[in-house]
Amino acid sequence: MSAALEEFGFFQVVQGYLDQASGIMGLPDHVREILAEPKNELIVHFPVRMDDGRNRVFKGYRIQHNNVMGPYKGGMRYHEAVNLDELKALAMQMTWKCALLGVPFGGGKGGIKFNPRDHSEDELRRITRRFTHALGTNIGPAYDIPAPDVGTNAKTMVWMMDTYMNTGPTYEKNDQRAVVTGKTINAGGSEGREKATGQGVVHCIKEWARERRFDLEGATAIVQGFGNVGSNAALLLSKLGVSTIATGDHTGYLHNEEGLNAHKLQDYVQANGSIEGYPRGERITRDEFFETPADLFIPAALENQVGEKEATALRVRLIAEGANGPINPAGEAVLKDRGIPIIPDVLANSGGVTVSYYEWVQNRNSEHWDLEEVQRRLLHMIRRAYQRTMFYAAEKKVDPRIAAYALALESLATSYEERGIFP
Ligand code: NAD
Repeated sequence: MSAALEEFGFFQVVQGYLDQASGIMGLPDHVREILAEPKNELIVHFPVRMDDGRNRVFKGYRIQHNNVMGPYKGGMRYHEAVNLDELKALAMQMTWKCALLGVPFGGGKGGIKFNPRDHSEDELRRITRRFTHALGTNIGPAYDIPAPDVGTNAKTMVWMMDTYMNTGPTYEKNDQRAVVTGKTINAGGSEGREKATGQGVVHCIKEWARERRFDLEGATAIVQGFGNVGSNAALLLSKLGVSTIATGDHTGYLHNEEGLNAHKLQDYVQANGSIEGYPRGERITRDEFFETPADLFIPAALENQVGEKEATALRVRLIAEGANGPINPAGEAVLKDRGIPIIPDVLANSGGVTVSYYEWVQNRNSEHWDLEEVQRRLLHMIRRAYQRTMFYAAEKKVDPRIAAYALALESLATSYEERGIFP
């Protein structure tokens, strides 16, 4: 990360948006107070035997923000910078995302503070299994349902599922499959889940382009982060005739004015772990990446990547937030002044949790839907959420981020009003 980036506490940033949106839609104070903090914050320490025979103790987290709309739901992040503040913000964002989309889940997030790239596959499997064991019944198919996030993938989810199944009652084994989503198809995953977040980003971009009669055929994009979200967004955009002319990850940045072949680059990253050494493009600096003129910018790495400097440098027409919280408040203020529209994270990257919900429904009903069915439902839900958000934004004269938050808060406020506060 650039040293010039201002330090913003992600949790405080998200709380700030909560306050703004609460004011717009008139959220009762007592509900705002409930939603301003997570319900549960769980921290576990657990030992794991490394390949060299030594033990290492890891720190794992699971934050459960809110479950008034349904079971807690959210990703598991494996990254050396994982911390409580970040996970509280991400868990809170999951609550808004599910409420906005009408997915009957609440918000959660978790992870382990370590760099998965420093470990063998055997170590990663043992770390995941001990973490799942340490969480015990704090997760569950009707209570809290993890999914992949930065540093985790379908394989991680299958290990979690298998550990959870094998530590629960034998007669309930098959009911436990739905304890995680984002699994491999073979283990009970859904068609379309792997690409779902990227697909949701692209559906939002298509809606934006349709409204403005902007022709995506021949357009260009820059994509920060080439993991699950970034690479699939680039791949799906290429099918619409949009070329990704620059990208970057934790190892550096690449540029190719003719367009990087998203398919080949995705295969390369899967084989090599990063874009480093990919031959079909010239290396550029992080600053040059942000200065590259293009139609679209898709941040798909981590939070707090676009500050004042990056927002001033960007030469794009639209930003669609694949990542959670990629733009900090200083960056957001500059982009607002410059009139560069932002499709906010809670809307743009909601395709992942939406198809996770479909996976959960299929597991609970012992069904397997075909890809067309998943895609049809996803398109419908993203389109509806996009249109509701943009309509609300125009009507109340607020930006789409605050509109998305306000719409989510309206659903949550209704639930609290109907139920009252226990006892
Ligand atoms: P991933 O681990 O598959 O990919 C992360 C990418 O970011 C990698 O290419 C990595 O090299 C890059 N990266 C890491 N640090 C970086 C840095 N300092 N500078 C530039 N690039 C860096 O993770 P993912 O699942 O694609 O998640 C990316 C973002 O999307 C996260 O914010 C995540 O919360 C969000 N998201 C993911 C999903 C999902 O379904 N996976 C759903 C919703 C939102």
